[in-house]
Amino acid sequence: KKRNPGEKEFLQATREIFDSLRPVFLKHPKFIHNGILERITEPDRVITFRVSWEDDTGKVQVNRGFRVQFNNSMGPYKGGIRFHPTVNSSIMKFLAFEQTFKNALTGQPIGGGKGGSDFDPKGKSEREIMRFTQSFITELSKYIGADMDVPAGDIGVGKREIGYMFGQYNRLKGGYEAGVFTGKDPNHGGSLGRKEATGYGCVYFVEEMLKETGDSFAGKNVIVSGSGNVATYAMEKAIELGAKVLACSDSNGYILDPNGIDVGTVIQLKELDNKRIQEYTKFHKQATYHEGCTGIWSVPCDIALPCATQNELEEIDASLLIKNGVKAVGEGANMPCTEKAILAFQANGVLFGPAKAANAGGVAVSAMEMSQNSMRLSWTVEEVDDKLKIIMKNIYTSCHDAATSFGYPGNLVVGANIAGFIKVADAMVSHGIH
Ligand code: NDP
Repeated sequence: KKRNPGEKEFLQATREIFDSLRPVFLKHPKFIHNGILERITEPDRVITFRVSWEDDTGKVQVNRGFRVQFNNSMGPYKGGIRFHPTVNSSIMKFLAFEQTFKNALTGQPIGGGKGGSDFDPKGKSEREIMRFTQSFITELSKYIGADMDVPAGDIGVGKREIGYMFGQYNRLKGGYEAGVFTGKDPNHGGSLGRKEATGYGCVYFVEEMLKETGDSFAGKNVIVSGSGNVATYAMEKAIELGAKVLACSDSNGYILDPNGIDVGTVIQLKELDNKRIQEYTKFHKQATYHEGCTGIWSVPCDIALPCATQNELEEIDASLLIKNGVKAVGEGANMPCTEKAILAFQANGVLFGPAKAANAGGVAVSAMEMSQNSMRLSWTVEEVDDKLKIIMKNIYTSCHDAATSFGYPGNLVVGANIAGFIKVADAMVSHGIH
């Protein structure tokens, strides 16, 4: 707290890990002797910079850019870039910290990082977004590279913005460094299956949790918050596995469709037309729109997948879900459930898949994009999806086994924290004290 005053989200994320680690330190005193706890919570470096750009009226605008290079013991720093007005140092540090353990859990050779800006893409023209993005990457280009730090997309950053970053980076460097970004357009160096990977991966993870109790997605009612990249493809896969998705949302409100959400309409509205989710009701008369996004948690369901943003599901929402009989919750977004909400789920026997395990599918496929770029070839969407399924199953098994062997059977929060931590901590010990 003293070292990171006011950094609410970062302190929340570190607290969650610390709470899980007591049995690890008892079993592995070498982590104490090597000062791992003190070192692992301090980022390797935090880069903050000014991003000046000119809007369409010719006015100069100034935003703040960030890149947190948290830990590269496992491989080059890897993590998304977020463009959203709420971006600040605490949010960047919490995301980069979580990313370090998530990336380790994937079993791929990638370290942890995160970046972004308080730039708000909403209401900006395409040219303004391009000018901003070029200015952002002009500064960040000094600190990244295929073997150094490999950014990707996140909230507000999709393949269009990654394309602008990639173009500007190569222009500045005077070459073509295919592996410096992931999340590229599959027609220009990206991996097939990347845009679906986080949402699909989250559903694969929850399916593993359900399997343990002899259950599955088939015939279940599901609600998914958000209607962006993660939410859309989580809905698509849940439906493919036989579930009905009753509701989804955006930052204004949620829609409820008793016939089951039509994902094609959501993709058309949100991914292609940049419209609000409210417009869904124009195409599906039986559906209703409700103002305010947290109301979505009052919809009775068997499975809830929070896929929008951090701390979007609080204790009061968890109580409603529990009262309405929720069986499983899988975090598609990063840290969408507050600490008290998680405790409520666990105390009431709800299966709970924490973000750093359940949403690791996206970064796992990003690492596959790096491999394909290095080999100068591309895998088919089926090859990528098959590998993704195996990775999500392996992540589930590591979390499950770590929880059991450290005395917390069934607690995947503790399991994910311990399994991810041990991999990173072991690498840090082997690299010596620095
Ligand atoms: P997008 O920008 O594509 O989508 C975010 C969605 O959430 C939008 O529909 C947005 O609505 C909605 N939203 C924002 N705030 C709220 C809120 N308070 N309540 C309800 N809906 C809200 O982002 P992504 O789908 O890429 O990312 C979502 C989350 O998943 C983030 O936490 C991200 O860090 C995490 N994540 C993403 C990965 C990826 O591969 N994309 C990988 C791993 C984690 P609106 O349209 O109104 O803005």
